[in-house]
Amino acid sequence: METIPYPRQHIQQAIQQRNLEELLHTAAAIHGHYCTGLAMGVVAGRELVSRIGASADGLEDLLVITETNNCASDGVQVVTGCTFGNNGLIFRETGKIAFTIVNRGKAAFRIVVRPDAREFLRTKYAEFSDSYQKVIVNQSRDEATVEEFKIHGYHKAMVTIKQPFEQLFTIQKTEIPDLPDFAKATETVICSMCQEPVMENHTVEINQDFVCFSCSNSEIRELNGNGMK
Ligand SMILES: [Zn+2]
Ligand SMILES: [Zn+2]
Repeated sequence: METIPYPRQHIQQAIQQRNLEELLHTAAAIHGHYCTGLAMGVVAGRELVSRIGASADGLEDLLVITETNNCASDGVQVVTGCTFGNNGLIFRETGKIAFTIVNRGKAAFRIVVRPDAREFLRTKYAEFSDSYQKVIVNQSRDEATVEEFKIHGYHKAMVTIKQPFEQLFTIQKTEIPDLPDFAKATETVICSMCQEPVMENHTVEINQDFVCFSCSNSEIRELNGNGMK
């Protein structure tokens, strides 16, 4: 059999070597900035993968349930390899910073942030709080202020990955009885109105034709910065 590259080689290696800095840089490449949330996700993701002892290939044997769509979920996606695009990531919106990893038919672990984690991290790097207030709470877009915010974000992320896991999260073995089945391969059909290709299970039937949700004014669900709507 032909040997092809394993695309997660350097991530898997960093997990084994507990090289959280390497994982943080890799996660930041898709996240766009360094922040505490991303760092928390990296810490959580590394713990999840090492507990389950399996490596992800994006074929849905390994699944992650994320309960929030904030910065941390990007860290978890990169480190676990369970992503939105490979159907390995399930979004169950409770609004908690909590992640569950499931190895189908084997084991599941849920990680949840400690109630005192935020305050604990604040004491480790207090300089960040002021910047956060200006840029995130008051939405300042003043260039120097944003730049300073990013610098503090970077340093706080670096401080965060150096903290012991137990100071930030708790982890428990769990069970997920209602795990979704493997994603079905769905037929693609052509909407009879706009002529755009669309997944058949995302159409309605009008006059024995397939009509997409947009053309039929059906409800289109959206995941955005405020959650599901
Ligand atoms: Zn972020
Ligand atoms: Zn259409």
